[in-house]
Amino acid sequence: MSTVPHETVSPQASPTDEPLAKLLFNRPGADIILRSQDCYHFRVPKTSIVNNFPILGEIIQRTLDSPGNANAEANLPVVQLPESGEILHCLLTFVFPVTPLIPSTPEDTMELLSVAQKYQMGSVLTHIRATFAQQNSLPTGLEPALHIYALAQKYGLRPEALQTARTILNYPMTIEDFDNKLDIMSGASLYELWKYHESVRIILVSDLAEFRMSCARGTITGLRCTDLSSSQIPSWLDQYIESIGNTPNLFDYAELNVAMVRHVRDKANEIDCECAFIPSQTIRDLWNALASVVHGSFEKAESALSLVREQEDPEVQINPATSTLEPFDVHHIPDANLIIRSSDLVNFRVHKSVLTMVSPIFRDLLSLPQPSDSETVDGLPVVQLSEGSELLNSLISILYPFRTAIPNSYDKVLYLLAASQKYEMGSVQSSIRAKVKLGEFPVPKGVEAFSAYVIASGKGLIPEMESAARQTLDHPMTFEILGEGLRLFEGWALRDLVDFRRRCGDNLVTCLDSYRVVEPPGPSSVWRGCPENGSRRHFVLPKWLDQLLSQSRNNLKLQKFTDPLVIHSRIRGEYLKSLQTHLRCKFCLDVYVKESTFCTELENKLEQARDKELVRPLDDASI
Ligand SMILES: [Zn+2]
Ligand SMILES: [Zn+2]
Repeated sequence: MSTVPHETVSPQASPTDEPLAKLLFNRPGADIILRSQDCYHFRVPKTSIVNNFPILGEIIQRTLDSPGNANAEANLPVVQLPESGEILHCLLTFVFPVTPLIPSTPEDTMELLSVAQKYQMGSVLTHIRATFAQQNSLPTGLEPALHIYALAQKYGLRPEALQTARTILNYPMTIEDFDNKLDIMSGASLYELWKYHESVRIILVSDLAEFRMSCARGTITGLRCTDLSSSQIPSWLDQYIESIGNTPNLFDYAELNVAMVRHVRDKANEIDCECAFIPSQTIRDLWNALASVVHGSFEKAESALSLVREQEDPEVQINPATSTLEPFDVHHIPDANLIIRSSDLVNFRVHKSVLTMVSPIFRDLLSLPQPSDSETVDGLPVVQLSEGSELLNSLISILYPFRTAIPNSYDKVLYLLAASQKYEMGSVQSSIRAKVKLGEFPVPKGVEAFSAYVIASGKGLIPEMESAARQTLDHPMTFEILGEGLRLFEGWALRDLVDFRRRCGDNLVTCLDSYRVVEPPGPSSVWRGCPENGSRRHFVLPKWLDQLLSQSRNNLKLQKFTDPLVIHSRIRGEYLKSLQTHLRCKFCLDVYVKESTFCTELENKLEQARDKELVRPLDDASI
């Protein structure tokens, strides 16, 4: 909250200083002017605000009490507020007895609500929500709902976040379905949404199981059908109800009808199936009972939706008390002449000369004259750094001939690399990278590649970012796999990774296509001549090879982009398997022996197709 010292508008000056177009609100008995950030004026009586809304009241009072107010007697004091004219105007229509105004878009309404929430205007907040609900409703389409959900998360508006999260349940929630919408919100908001979605599903599955066992709460009893489930309701209905648990968006009257029509059509000639003749009242009762279960589950899941709080950089979350830090005895560094202090207040005694030798940043920093009152410990100057003690401990152990303090996770290796990059310690950075390569330092294991990608790209560690991105291709990319790591992602970083994956998939298809070309100098031209192709044998590939390549290609085309891209590691096995179906052909066996590197080259080309597309560093991407 920023307020500027108030100024006054003199009555004489008002025609020019306060043009009518800029005066949006003029209440009888006005004794102050509220001014919006875009300079609109609102003349209001002070008491009606001060008495009802303590936070705004305090801002007004502070402005009035400020020394500049001494000569304001004849004029109205101006209280500057950071909101726009439109928002402030709408807000005041809920404070004074006038026709309430709701902003023209749901986005602006979210902002209005956030302002009312910020000033803790509880009654106004309720009033705005009620008026909005009468005049409008929150969007039902996926993309607009995601936008409003993102805003509600941003402004901390729980009812709206919940309402739109419920709407989003009407749509499947997978990375494929969210594909081009991933950058609408932060990874943290997306993670909360996904967690809520999962909770709803878990609760639904259990509530619906109970519902099925109760014969749909007795609404479907005694119905004859050739295919009854163990809970004595028709299997088609049982399966439909069960499916809602896994895919809440199937909770839709039309979906129930589709399931019924399909069953009735299949059993058209069976007199023992009465499903075509279920009275419409029974169907309605069933639907209402189902709806009450589903809504009950939604309500139970409400507490699962959390609002995102400002996420701390995990780097500073490393708690020295619980970490496995074993500080080497700083006193063993003889003749230390400088103390560097970690963010968690651990002092490390070091030599200026060592730091200035490896880091131009420290060289410049330490050459600055120190203020006379700067802190010293045992007569040594103290330099405060933003890194934690665990990280500094590792860093110093690399600078000095000590046993290296090995970071206990790859994430920490990345933070160490980032610190050495920040202080321009090129040689230190190279030595850390060498230790990773040699396996002395941890490497990202399995799906850790996803969080490694986010950290590395956020810190501008290009080689680590590229190798992590490549490593993510070995794993499916789903919300389940990303898990909590999703919180680290900015939405656009997730989308970048999706784009990268898609480009790699396309490259792999192109690569396989290039192997299906039979003309020289294509790599497959050596295979021309398989007698099985008869007179066309010089113009086409042997059938077994052509089939292998086109099938691999088509599989790649068909697979979801979130599936792993591991064709390079599978191709040799499949190549040998295909060839084994064709061992009778002397020609192909000869080529196989003579061109023994053919498959190795294919593997390499496929691996390169995954490497070709460099990922953009986050800095570029964020523009
Ligand atoms: Zn039936
Ligand atoms: Zn052959």
